[in-house]
Amino acid sequence: MILERFFPDLYISSVYELPLEQLRAMGIRGLVFDIDNTIAPFDVADPDEKLIAYFARLREMGFRLVILSNNNKERVSRFNAPLKTLAVYKAGKPGYKKMHLALAKLGLDPSEAALVGDQVFTDMWCGHRGGLYSIMTAPICNRDQLVTKVKRGLERQVMKVYFRRNGLK
Ligand SMILES: [Mg+2]
Repeated sequence: MILERFFPDLYISSVYELPLEQLRAMGIRGLVFDIDNTIAPFDVADPDEKLIAYFARLREMGFRLVILSNNNKERVSRFNAPLKTLAVYKAGKPGYKKMHLALAKLGLDPSEAALVGDQVFTDMWCGHRGGLYSIMTAPICNRDQLVTKVKRGLERQVMKVYFRRNGLK
């Protein structure tokens, strides 16, 4: 069925609910994060203490981290400054070329990484096409860039089917 290419492999309500031990047991060694409305509201410029501490913990657990955003250089470099991850701006999601390049820099095969994002047609599709385990979070806030807002209606339809099928809502 055509909708399935957009379905997440796993749905969580926040990045802080990533099943880290389970991911590690699956052989996942890299985590690729979207920024806007996944790890921060789209209109908040800097990561908060909680996120900085979480990224430190992920590193201690042995995960390699990537930030992969379709947003611009200014947004991504400022947000990444305290996090100090490998960060990719204007990533071109749902294209996966830049994601593959970033993973190659870290010495990871796509099958060893998970992508975490809040959007069906950019993040989930990118993850699946690129061969990554694809994890969707509920968006952090209801505020969105205009272009995202337009897509949300369709996304909701896709997720309605997903939730119904998985008995989640
Ligand atoms: Mg996003």
